[in-house]
Amino acid sequence: MKVQLLGTSAAEGYPAIFCKCDACMRARKLGGKNIRTRTSAIIDDELKIDFPPDTLHHVLTYNLDLGSIQNLLFTHSHHDHFYPEDITMRAPVFAHDIDYPLNIYGNDIVIYKCKEVFQFSREAFKLRRIAPFITYTIGSFQVTPLLADHDKNETCFIFYIEKGNRSMLYGHDTGWFPPQTWAWLEHKKLDFVLLDCTHGLIPEKRNHLNIEGVKEIKEIFMANGIIDESSKVIATHFSHNTKLSHSELKSLLNPFGIEVAYDGMIVNV
Ligand SMILES: [Zn+2]
Ligand SMILES: [Zn+2]
Ligand SMILES: [Zn+2]
Repeated sequence: MKVQLLGTSAAEGYPAIFCKCDACMRARKLGGKNIRTRTSAIIDDELKIDFPPDTLHHVLTYNLDLGSIQNLLFTHSHHDHFYPEDITMRAPVFAHDIDYPLNIYGNDIVIYKCKEVFQFSREAFKLRRIAPFITYTIGSFQVTPLLADHDKNETCFIFYIEKGNRSMLYGHDTGWFPPQTWAWLEHKKLDFVLLDCTHGLIPEKRNHLNIEGVKEIKEIFMANGIIDESSKVIATHFSHNTKLSHSELKSLLNPFGIEVAYDGMIVNV
């Protein structure tokens, strides 16, 4: 699988959209991998996960052929992952010479909001409500939503994604996994694990993970044979409140065999 990470920041962006804190000012000055936009990924140019408000920026920056993607999968409805108004730009009057419909998979809130926003262009979209711990065939992938620890008002998902004999965990937004998710993963194998690291060194691993949480999950996966030395573990979704630059994150995570995501990173699984 080719996994293209289109954005790697928390909800506010990093530098944050209105912020003048030292960390944001430093990120602006350093540029490069310190500039992080809101998160999304595309797998094998075929399956897109989440649709943040920075999507047009991603299309232009990475020259994406978004019109060819027919499957869109949502983790949850927070605005940094779900901007349905821009998805309506795929309706016939705004997008020409593409195939319809776009299949959208998400929880009940995602599907409900899509129905509201798409009321004048419903034929362009096929909405499919998904539930945790059920495996769905989406294009050439097998996708199983697992429960996240993120927002108790919503059924937030992380995803176990398989294709051929390769598998990955799309692990954000989440804090420390709920017991049902740990149990489901118990006998699985993962070639690639992408994990929430919103909090950096802040001592909090509920709702979002921090560096300690990412390291602990990696150790548990390793001890239980879910990953091995050949598996890739990458941290992402960083907040400016971490106050950490890309190179500082690398020096904190690389010694533990964990890579640091950056916008535009391509991971071959
Ligand atoms: Zn988020
Ligand atoms: Zn800031
Ligand atoms: Zn969220």
